[in-house]
Amino acid sequence: MVLGSIALILAASAYAQDPAIITSRARGWLDTLTSPAFHGRGYVKDGDMIASAWLAKKFEAFGLKPMKQDFFEPFQFNVNSFPDSVIVRIDGKRLVPGIDFLVDPASGKASGAYGIVHITPADLATPERKRMTMGVISGKAACVHWTTTKSADTLRMFHDWERDLMHYGPVLKRSAKLTWSVAQDAEPFPLIEVTGDALTDSSLTVDLDVRNELLSRHPARNVMGMVKGKSKKWIVVGAHYDHLGEMGPDAIFPGANDNASGTAMLLSLAEYFGQKKNTPKHNLLFVAFAGEEAGLVGSEWCVTDRPIAWKEVRMMVNLDILGTGDDGIMVVNATAQQKAYDQLVAINATKGYLKEVKARGPSCNSDHCPFVQRGVPAIFIYTLGGVAYYHDVLDRSATLPLTEFADLHALLRDFITTWK
Ligand SMILES: [Zn+2]
Repeated sequence: MVLGSIALILAASAYAQDPAIITSRARGWLDTLTSPAFHGRGYVKDGDMIASAWLAKKFEAFGLKPMKQDFFEPFQFNVNSFPDSVIVRIDGKRLVPGIDFLVDPASGKASGAYGIVHITPADLATPERKRMTMGVISGKAACVHWTTTKSADTLRMFHDWERDLMHYGPVLKRSAKLTWSVAQDAEPFPLIEVTGDALTDSSLTVDLDVRNELLSRHPARNVMGMVKGKSKKWIVVGAHYDHLGEMGPDAIFPGANDNASGTAMLLSLAEYFGQKKNTPKHNLLFVAFAGEEAGLVGSEWCVTDRPIAWKEVRMMVNLDILGTGDDGIMVVNATAQQKAYDQLVAINATKGYLKEVKARGPSCNSDHCPFVQRGVPAIFIYTLGGVAYYHDVLDRSATLPLTEFADLHALLRDFITTWK
């Protein structure tokens, strides 16, 4: 009995430190988070709710304490969704959802056959010409042929034209790479982005069945849990668990790298610090954010809701896209948080965890941003190198190597343990 307990304790401590075990546990969580049962952790079939319930159970199992009556921090926002199969046929050929085409996230509805009118910038360049063009496309689908440009102004103008056209009828557009996202509103008609050669200058007709569902005040929730430390200060560790959901049942976005990987790291650190023997210096607030892909909605709500006094926070560490690491990691906002960056570099130099710890200036590109805007010291870490599937149906666990997961876990663990 006694011997058995000692063996168990030894097993548990080995278990917390062994890189192979850290990675294999993360792989298990990644597989669960990206599984079809989680529906891309978005806005179809309760994907985001299922994921948040699962995460709360994990927090509880790791010994984290809730900040409120439970582990949830609920909020609401409007979001466009595509629960039904999306069908697109061009000149009779059926396209594969997610592979041949995506609908723009702000797409509205269209069903039936449409003749295709091909449009160039010249057709919209002057008010007179634009009025004529809008007359011509009524009842048809507009296929836009924009010029290639890197000018942000021109790209914005093309984007605005697309939004305009989506008030008149379906819009078709060729695209080199299909990248999906989440919209909080919807235009009356859909925009369909087509890759490959299914859509050409001479395409004649398109058959569509696109049905969006604009969810008003969709209930979402961050998952929050804390570990009591020895000081009165806090370190916040955050990672968004939401992803893009599904574009109908045929196109699921698993979001392995973005951000099941960061969520797995959050769990991995929560599990480590949840153990009594690893009680941290500062209190730790672990937050799995919802609604990131819809525009940092969950982190924005968290900073507004103020579960703790932000002035007591010594550092907020945001983890988003941690599935590789062949070329090390990037620290966003490192220039504003030089001491934290220097400490990460110093730990890494001593322990030799990662190839490189790189620095970047501030960027409002993930959940650290609302914290930075409230004056909370925050950094955002993502891994560099390796596979680069992003916001597409190919961002799967099976192809995500977790190359440096255990090393990064150790670096973050050491940083959190030693950060003053
Ligand atoms: Zn992300």
